Amino acid sequence: MSERLAPTTTPDTKFFWDALKDGKLVIQRCAGCQALRHPPRPMCPRCNALAWDTVEASGKGEVYSFVLPRHPRWPWFDETYVVALVQLEEGVRIVSNLNDVDAADVTIGMPVEAYVEHFDNVSLPQFRPRRNA
Ligand SMILES: [Zn+2]
Repeated sequence: MSERLAPTTTPDTKFFWDALKDGKLVIQRCAGCQALRHPPRPMCPRCNALAWDTVEASGKGEVYSFVLPRHPRWPWFDETYVVALVQLEEGVRIVSNLNDVDAADVTIGMPVEAYVEHFDNVSLPQFRPRRNA
């Protein structure tokens, strides 16, 4: 295994990163109005409730937008890589890598699925083209 640039974990985001260690992609859900939100934050932007729980995401989504970063070069990527903004079917969006696809073949609206990749120092959500779109 290798390492990746790890996120800064806060009390508000710890549940998200801990769930990934268990192989799960979870979404924060307001206990007041049931609205889902991502990235995690302490207060619901709809109803201002502070209480929340989580739901496990299906992992299914589609590419909402993407970029092909050129600089700076990261030691983890040998070639062009895809950073995608994925719209999950639950309605929230998440920034991640899109793997197992040639960058030239990525399109807006492409069906994708999440998987968790475990590195030495962090577990990260990753996406690949959906096999059973
Ligand atoms: Zn709410």
